[in-house]
Amino acid sequence: MPRTLDDARRWSRIGTELLVKAAQFDEAGYAAPSLLPGWSRAHLAAHVAANAEALANLVHWAATGEPTPMYASPEERLAGIERGRALPAAELTDWLRESAAALERGTAALGEERWRTPVVTAQGRTVPAAEVPWLRSREVCVHAVDLANGVTFADLPSDFLTALCEDVVAKRSAVPGPALSLRAPGAAWELPGTGEPVLVEGELADLAAYLTGRGDGPGAPAPTLGTWL
Ligand code: ZN
Repeated sequence: MPRTLDDARRWSRIGTELLVKAAQFDEAGYAAPSLLPGWSRAHLAAHVAANAEALANLVHWAATGEPTPMYASPEERLAGIERGRALPAAELTDWLRESAAALERGTAALGEERWRTPVVTAQGRTVPAAEVPWLRSREVCVHAVDLANGVTFADLPSDFLTALCEDVVAKRSAVPGPALSLRAPGAAWELPGTGEPVLVEGELADLAAYLTGRGDGPGAPAPTLGTWL
């Protein structure tokens, strides 16, 4: 069943809750590494907070018709992360919480007919504004795991994990790579590619971790697919 706007808004709220709860760090906690190579938890928290503000720009665009890109430039995006990670721990956590709340308020106030407004993502894709809650739910849910403070893919809603796997499989199908057969209880995907399909079998949470480059191939040894989000 295709995901709906209400699904994505629910996942976004659940992911935000998990993320903010996991991010009650002091200075030393924020300085520790996240699961993302080269990034401390502070880098990651600043990235997620800046992402909320960037997506709020798209909601503003949809609400007013005035084109407001996510980031003014790639340099501005990086500068925001650098500024944020240098904040005192309590201020960084506040920014994470308040930026998420502001995005939620903007989203809640958007009139139904406005969700179809075309907006442009940071990757240059033109999508209806209704994709914004989905983009946000991916960020908060997956990065809640990346904070490396106890949240795992198994803590995420299973319908979110299904939508996440479908999203990655659709993207991966467009790029060359090894053929994969993905199997989880109640779910199966075929990823076209080179060679005999490699069977990757496990729980839905394991497949989602694997497909997003966050875990080894469950079951059979399989080629790594690299990071994605
Ligand atoms: Zn991200």
